[in-house]
Amino acid sequence: MSPERLSRIRQMLARRQPDLTVCLEHVNKAHNIAAIIRTCDAVGVHEIHAVWPEAVRENNRAAKGSHHWLRQQRHDTIAQAISTLKQQNMQVLATHLSSRAVDFREIDYTKPTAILLGAEKHGISQEALALADQDIIIPMVGMVQSLNVSVASALILYEAQRQRQQAGYYQRECQLPRDEQQRLLFEGGYPRLATFCQDKALEYPAIGEHGEILAHADWWKRLQLNPAQWDETSLPA
Ligand code: SAM
Repeated sequence: MSPERLSRIRQMLARRQPDLTVCLEHVNKAHNIAAIIRTCDAVGVHEIHAVWPEAVRENNRAAKGSHHWLRQQRHDTIAQAISTLKQQNMQVLATHLSSRAVDFREIDYTKPTAILLGAEKHGISQEALALADQDIIIPMVGMVQSLNVSVASALILYEAQRQRQQAGYYQRECQLPRDEQQRLLFEGGYPRLATFCQDKALEYPAIGEHGEILAHADWWKRLQLNPAQWDETSLPA
């Protein structure tokens, strides 16, 4: 991988915020999902959570490749999702207008935070509202009662980004575990080889200080590649 690519991935990793996330409850339009993923990447969310009846669906084009950089954890029920988030000591915020809802700008987003986003038509379920810690609302003073879900997510995530920026959260040592950094360095620096490894169910190699692959001869042999002559661009895309 080029030094520029390595430096760009390292910068991105250093700014990831593993204790800031969103949880999508049956958000079902592909373009909304893609737009939310893209905003999550832009503010440094590392992993998103979702409850969907089927496998994760997203519009890859609209996500502009950001879906490659985010982990997606799918849950069977919203109760399971919220329980997972609470086990990670997250404050769980439901984006919903209720008598207990506060303006989204009143929240302290420097705390570990999960933002629940609801379905385009029906919003957040009663079950999720009962389990959340706090309802938050983006004030609306016009004729319509709600924003598009991806727009709502962007406003809230950028308020979280603003607060975390002020608190110095984007200038810290990388917060991701080392094996996660290594995975992203390999997948980001050698995407074709990473796919090749996945197809052959082969473990990823370590990545060295200068972005080089640190692997035994046996690993290259199992891939049927010559480490001296191999070239990422020669692999199928
Ligand atoms: N009829 C639905 C309802 O009663 O909630 C409207 C759903 S809205 C189109 C889809 C999602 O966008 C909501 O569940 C919420 O996550 C988010 N959202 C939209 N407008 C919002 C606002 N003003 N404040 C907070 N969240 C909002």
